[in-house]
Amino acid sequence: NRRIVLASRPVSLPALDNFRIERTAIPSLEEGQVLLKIRYLSLDPYMRGRMSAAKSYATPVEIGGVMEGGTVAEVVATKNPDYRIGEIVLSHSGWQTYAAEHGAGLRKLDPDLVPVTTALGVFGMPGFAAYSGLLNIGQPATGETVVVAAASGPVGSVVGQIARIKGARAVGIAGGQRKCEFAKNTFGFDSVIDHTSPDFDARLREACPNGVDVYFENVGGKVWDGVFPLLNKFARIPVCGLISQYNDSGPFDGPDRLPLVMASVLSKSLTVRGFIQRDFADQRPVFYNEMADWLTQGVIKYKEDIVDGLEQAPEAFIGMLQGKNFGKLLVRL
Ligand code: NDP
Repeated sequence: NRRIVLASRPVSLPALDNFRIERTAIPSLEEGQVLLKIRYLSLDPYMRGRMSAAKSYATPVEIGGVMEGGTVAEVVATKNPDYRIGEIVLSHSGWQTYAAEHGAGLRKLDPDLVPVTTALGVFGMPGFAAYSGLLNIGQPATGETVVVAAASGPVGSVVGQIARIKGARAVGIAGGQRKCEFAKNTFGFDSVIDHTSPDFDARLREACPNGVDVYFENVGGKVWDGVFPLLNKFARIPVCGLISQYNDSGPFDGPDRLPLVMASVLSKSLTVRGFIQRDFADQRPVFYNEMADWLTQGVIKYKEDIVDGLEQAPEAFIGMLQGKNFGKLLVRL
């Protein structure tokens, strides 16, 4: 068994020496457990938070502990009558090649319905974050303008596509021409703006001639600065992620903009609401049904970025925090 543990806590952008690869025995099974061989590991922005000791909505990974993460795995041995050898499951087994798990935390996957990798992306946690945040908080209506950044990733791409299903105009934001073109051509965004362009603010304004009714917040920072003046009266802002500041520990540079922001929250009657997708856990069955239909009918498209080998996970993860991934980032083991 190989596993990647947290060797030390990063202060800003993680470095390779914050991780360590270890070899251990393949775990033995207790009654009720299954032995899983991990096939795919999901790399997600939230893992940066788990590397820090700072208090957040979830407990951090301990120093020396296995890095946390969602996985798609195959049952290779079983002491649980509900599971057969060869079944494919969604588990939360972390950055390692084998894991012993109790059946209760697992979800069986049907490889004949949709490719099993989607359980880590569009048909899993990130897709559900997009779905639940957009529909519960964003509530896009026909003809409204929805803006979302990280538009080529699993959350942003699903937000844009569902916005269009609901009859809204979808404006994406992404880093670099390649991602922008892909988001427009494949995900069907009405317009996609490159946040690395020097005239980002002006282009965004042009792309939103009627202002912004829903800003699905994934990144914060200069993207927030660009969208903020365009918000319409009664705009809704589901705050899903702030990836541009995950490597900052503060205090933050620049003038304090909170008074200005709060004045707009008041005068424009804005709704700003943060959420973690599991806040809406009771809606998962509805999501799985609806998303299965959208995927099998080809209504919703997705893109994966797959790297090979567990030892590549740290570099790929660090790259994602810098926008180097292109689609849902997965490690194939
Ligand atoms: P992605 O696969 O889209 O990867 C992250 C992307 O963020 C990068 O590719 C990059 O895209 C963009 N990015 C990174 N740094 C910056 C920056 N400084 N400014 C602007 N963009 C940047 O990730 P996900 O779709 O998995 O996640 C998107 C967001 O959703 C994250 O903030 C994540 O934390 C959040 N999230 C929240 C959940 C919740 O329950 N609240 C659940 C799942 C995700 P580009 O090059 O296009 O800028």
